[in-house]
Amino acid sequence: MKIRDYAMISLGLPNLDYYLKHGPYQTDRLTVRSFKLYADGALGSRGACLRKPYADRPETTGFLLLSPAELERVLKQLAGSGFQANTHCIGDSANHLILDLYGKMLKGKNNRRWRIEHAQVVSPGDVWKFNRYSVIPSVQPTHATSDMYWAGDRLGSIRVKGAYAFRDLMKQNGFIAFGSDFPVEAVNPLFGFHSATARQDANNFPAGGYQPENAVDRKSALLAMTRWAAYANFEDHLRGSIAPDKQADFVVLDQDLMKAPAPKLRQTKVLQTWVGGERVY
Ligand SMILES: [Zn+2]
Repeated sequence: MKIRDYAMISLGLPNLDYYLKHGPYQTDRLTVRSFKLYADGALGSRGACLRKPYADRPETTGFLLLSPAELERVLKQLAGSGFQANTHCIGDSANHLILDLYGKMLKGKNNRRWRIEHAQVVSPGDVWKFNRYSVIPSVQPTHATSDMYWAGDRLGSIRVKGAYAFRDLMKQNGFIAFGSDFPVEAVNPLFGFHSATARQDANNFPAGGYQPENAVDRKSALLAMTRWAAYANFEDHLRGSIAPDKQADFVVLDQDLMKAPAPKLRQTKVLQTWVGGERVY
């Protein structure tokens, strides 16, 4: 295997029992030390769990995929193990519930690096909990520019301001982790770099960016895809930056991401890819 994989175990009884018994698994290329839990569904299909009804379907608030009692039971088991909990939360109700359950398990500042995956719609009154309980928002910037055409319909004009709020989330702990969410979104991480910084789609729409107050500056976006992402995987001592004693994992690009004009960012070409000092592309 030429790439490195930080795999999350899908929650299910055989998996949970097996890994709680055997503990995390680590090789040079494969790390298994986290569980992915699903609190709710997706916003587009109105499966995200909201605190108040959908603006475009007032008879529903969406739903949780596991009951609060089940989620609490599993998180309690993970809290007593060496595993990291990474919970998919889209709606503001799912984020509210999981932030409070994380808080109940973690109590205060800690180094467990538990994450909320997506953290897509977060109530203004809940955002501070990311800092209080050292929770890492792990977000996928292209969600903002893929969903922007209809997110306001689902959420209404006020609630949508707390959606895809990557800058607000980043400010809580001073960092954030970015991912691509492939295969839901395109695999190219540079599309996410453009989405996060310009808040525009591939056609540079809309002019000025979507909810541009939550755009992330370019240096932070690069860190969110490298050093901060490595931190979110407990790998910051090994990779995420080019430094002595770190593994030589890096790419060579055909243009400087800090200087290229925004409309050119998605055309960035990867010239070389190196993993552990070996050129693999
Ligand atoms: Zn997810």
